[in-house]
Amino acid sequence: MSITFHSIQHAYTDEPVLRDISFAVESGEIVCVLGPSGSGKSTLLKLVAGLETLQAGRIELPDLEITPKRSSPPERRPVGLVMQEHALFPHFTVAANISFGLQKLDRSEQAERVTSLLALAGLELMADRYPHTLSGGQQQRVALARALAPKPAVMLLDEPFASIDVLLRNRLRSDTRQLLKASSTTALLVTHDPADAMALADRIAVIVAGELVQFGEPRTLWQAPAHPFVAEVLAGRQLFDAVFRQSAVMSVFGSFASNARLSENTSVQIAVAPDRIKLVPASQSPIAIIDIRFAGQQFTIHLAAEGQSLEAQLSDIRGLEIGQSVAIEIAPDDMLIYG
Ligand code: ADP
Ligand code: MG
Repeated sequence: MSITFHSIQHAYTDEPVLRDISFAVESGEIVCVLGPSGSGKSTLLKLVAGLETLQAGRIELPDLEITPKRSSPPERRPVGLVMQEHALFPHFTVAANISFGLQKLDRSEQAERVTSLLALAGLELMADRYPHTLSGGQQQRVALARALAPKPAVMLLDEPFASIDVLLRNRLRSDTRQLLKASSTTALLVTHDPADAMALADRIAVIVAGELVQFGEPRTLWQAPAHPFVAEVLAGRQLFDAVFRQSAVMSVFGSFASNARLSENTSVQIAVAPDRIKLVPASQSPIAIIDIRFAGQQFTIHLAAEGQSLEAQLSDIRGLEIGQSVAIEIAPDDMLIYG
């Protein structure tokens, strides 16, 4: 019950949108595909669902192999699909929506399956309601239950929480994870939201501009982001440009000793966690504190130098004030350097 991608490539025009994507989702595993908008995530999902024709590479699904020469219509694929717009049938009750894909079962089997899915999705009291009387989060749970009803070997979810308001989203993420785990369903979930990936994924596949830049467990990606996008978006690091020269990286925010092995004058991007930036008052420094904001556990210090900005996080802001000039210190081990 797994999904394996072998060297998937895809192009709508001359410019490829997927470049040589290979990874595998294990049986029962939830993998999130994370990437910026336009990076090719939905295309990858559509290739699995059969909504786009595979141009190059190979996709292995349970009991089915898809190649450019050997396709299979969407309805023959062992997949369930949940999209951002949940597209429930408005004139069907919740129960009827869920039983929609169960026509092959006899009536009593259908009823039994619907009852168990209603319970699994926490919708027991909603069976006879119509979709428009439900909240967005409840509708999304119905969509999920409907897709799970025929017991697909794999579930595909494309930005399933994008239209749900922020407060509900957190709850729905954990409900969805529980629902998928309780039914031992293998799942591939596409999202641009790192919080979705952190909350749901056993492993995260990060796609940037059609390339798989990192694939691993959330903790690995957080601790050792292999690409600036992962560092910034998933691992909460700040990025700024620098040049490597004489065992240091030089930037508008200062120059920092580095033990990186790079050739002289290499342009690099530095990633640093905001709470690893130390500020030292320095009247001659070109770096200014432009704002200080209370952010719960600590304060966010907004810094600017030569039109570029950077945020530091400190729990103690004694001696710092808006308008002040400061120098920045970053320990070599606290910098990630991308060449
Ligand atoms: P994502 O889901 O990561 O936002 P998509 O897979 O939807 O990305 O799209 C990747 C790129 O392919 C985008 O530049 C998009 O405009 C383009 N694209 C998607 N579908 C089509 C299509 N049917 N025809 C032409 N271009 C498309
Ligand atoms: Mg998309």
